[in-house]
Amino acid sequence: MRRGHVKWIPILIAGLILAWQYFSSDKFVNPETGKKSHVGMSTQQEAALGFQTYRQVLSEARTIDSGPEVHAVKTVASRLAKATGQGGQGYEWEVSLIDDQQVNAFCLPGGKIVVYTGILPVAQNDAALATVMGHEMAHATSRHGAQRVLQQNLTQTAMLGVAVSLSDMDYGKQRAVMGALGAGAQFGILMPFGRKHESEADEIGLMYMARAGYDPQESLRFWQRMDQAGRAGPPEFLSTHPAHGTRIQQLQALMPKAIEEYKRARGQ
Ligand SMILES: [Zn+2]
Repeated sequence: MRRGHVKWIPILIAGLILAWQYFSSDKFVNPETGKKSHVGMSTQQEAALGFQTYRQVLSEARTIDSGPEVHAVKTVASRLAKATGQGGQGYEWEVSLIDDQQVNAFCLPGGKIVVYTGILPVAQNDAALATVMGHEMAHATSRHGAQRVLQQNLTQTAMLGVAVSLSDMDYGKQRAVMGALGAGAQFGILMPFGRKHESEADEIGLMYMARAGYDPQESLRFWQRMDQAGRAGPPEFLSTHPAHGTRIQQLQALMPKAIEEYKRARGQ
């Protein structure tokens, strides 16, 4: 066989495996948006993994167990949990406050939430806390982690197929092609996927906070404060989250609907 030849059989096989992985995966309909997606894990697997990670994080951290800050975080979490409705069905919501200067918070699949004290001075009030926690809880109820697992599995299958198909090519060329494809997958598939999830978490999180009776307009002020905090130093949160301007624009577009939800929650 001529050196540098690309073999097509491995590509074909990878394509078939890919199709099988995709079509045999569980489907998920987001009750908030009606959008359908495929996931790479069951809700039970997600909850087990989330719980395990939660235990791990807590075992390595210093948690705060009482005081007004814990009370605030727990109150916001329980009001938001009720607001998740069908999306949060079967979730065992729980929140821990960790004494750590990171400006960060997250919610694991299955409903375990972690808030770092570092975010409290930026949040400043319960509505802002509801903004960030609502966003994180929306990632969990939208099963973004399980969607990403499938996406990564599919990308791996594709990359493996290409790697085998190039095995006759000289090593330098192989590395160049695989490097380009890897970057292509990162920038062309996985990152847009991440951005889509961020927008979705913003949208659903905004509805959660409004439905829980927190003024959704505080979200705009909160993200502004986060942006300023980000300029002073890099908060963990912003490195994985979208640019400030885009986020504010999207939130403003959703605001009329959120204010409706807020009024309804307040009985107005
Ligand atoms: Zn996010």
